[in-house]
Amino acid sequence: MNEAGLRAEIVAVAQAIDKAGFCPSKSGNVSARFGDGLLITPSGLPYAQTTPEDLIHLSLEGAVLGGARKPSSEWPFHVEIYKARRDAQAIVHTHSPRATALSCTRRGIPAFHYMIALCGGVDVRCAPYATFGTPELAENAVRALEGRKAVLLANHGVIALGGSLAGAHQIVAEVENLAGQYLDILAAGLEPVILDEAEMARVSAKFAGYGKVG
Ligand code: 13P
Ligand code: ZN
Repeated sequence: MNEAGLRAEIVAVAQAIDKAGFCPSKSGNVSARFGDGLLITPSGLPYAQTTPEDLIHLSLEGAVLGGARKPSSEWPFHVEIYKARRDAQAIVHTHSPRATALSCTRRGIPAFHYMIALCGGVDVRCAPYATFGTPELAENAVRALEGRKAVLLANHGVIALGGSLAGAHQIVAEVENLAGQYLDILAAGLEPVILDEAEMARVSAKFAGYGKVG
């Protein structure tokens, strides 16, 4: 995809997560790998006002290579994830309500539903708390993402990575759905039955040929 198309797609995903209610008070941010670095949404700019020209081009060291605005305050975790994960072509971060509520309990999401496999493994972990925008949060996120495509950030929100913007967007939406279902089960005073690793491996194998977007 050319640069103009990629910029337009980043803005489209940012506006879609906002419309879905995943970004209260202009939270969240979106990036995609571009050249040797990445394109990322600006800090604090309402998504409805964000245009493709507002995106910032960063190197993988976090240096600004292009763009007039301030990059997302979370650029440290975006660059560290791209450095650690060759499979990450795009990253979506949200404060979607149900997943964020669950993150405040500092619990992850177990394999209570087979769709957990979309997130890359047998669970979605919850990374330990660190202040937003810090290298410590980046380190915690990268560690908790090992072998996974999604992570809850304690007392904060969600990060999803994908092989494409559409893939990362799909995963961040599914995490919100799963977190909501898990909270509903817990709120009913019930304990879900957790699918075992053999079953989750079968599901992952089926997903591989299922036309998932990445
Ligand atoms: P930015 O507006 O700087 O991207 O920050 C939003 C956010 O979610 C911080 O964690
Ligand atoms: Zn955030």
